[in-house]
Amino acid sequence: MDRLADPGNTINLIKKYGFTFQKRFGQNFLIDAHVLDRIMDEADINGEDHVLEIGPGIGSMTQYLCERAGKVTAVEIDRELIPILKESLKDYDNVAIINDDILKTDIAGLIEEYGGGRKTKVVANLPYYITTPIIMSLLENHAPVSSITVMVQKEVAMRMQAGPGSKDYGALSLSTQYYSKPEIVANVPPNCFIPRPKVGSAVIRLDIYDEPPVRTKDERLMFKLIRAAFNQRRKTLVNSVANAGELGNSAYGKL
Ligand code: SAM
Repeated sequence: MDRLADPGNTINLIKKYGFTFQKRFGQNFLIDAHVLDRIMDEADINGEDHVLEIGPGIGSMTQYLCERAGKVTAVEIDRELIPILKESLKDYDNVAIINDDILKTDIAGLIEEYGGGRKTKVVANLPYYITTPIIMSLLENHAPVSSITVMVQKEVAMRMQAGPGSKDYGALSLSTQYYSKPEIVANVPPNCFIPRPKVGSAVIRLDIYDEPPVRTKDERLMFKLIRAAFNQRRKTLVNSVANAGELGNSAYGKL
């Protein structure tokens, strides 16, 4: 079967539908078969799996997922891409394409409906403008997910994986590592995408713990304190924590 990720096929499909890339949706489509094979291997997809793909684009990664997984559910916000996906994935009967915003989707409900409630693997080339909110929402809401294998900005991947003492260590590292074991499994240069992003990318796999490695009575309070402490690094810890009440829930640093 022809690979959608082949650069020539991607360009032909885009031209055929008169599709224009939307910067606001973080659209950088993968055009490198080796990278896609690598993501499939690292995500360890097999015929029993239900996979949730966030942002299928024209279906380049979805095609690989359909060939390896039992069932694929793909949520795409851009309705201009839906007719393209219907054509590009027409040969696969194990995929459901949903036109929705993942940040507004009831993910547990979606997994129940399309994956029969079984623990799901999330695999995606994430839109960079909402990488952190998507990942944190999956983790904090305890979505029924066993692993998350995603392409993100390299800088974000490094912050998720960083340990104490590193300059990248911060609230995002602690939150990610409370819920999961992160591992950067590949670095990916800009020429593997159309259009090329301005920054380097990395694939990170988060293996989600059944039980967090430390026990806490109040997760919300713990994260509020962590964010307060790292948000105001230059103040003393006492002052930062004293200000915690004024801080919202949002901050994981710059992204
Ligand atoms: N998976 C495709 C690939 O690798 O070629 C496309 C990846 S592209 C980086 C990100 C995709 O996420 C785009 O198709 C974009 O339209 C979609 N997207 C952006 N924001 C989204 C959201 N809030 N919910 C669902 N999809 C979104």
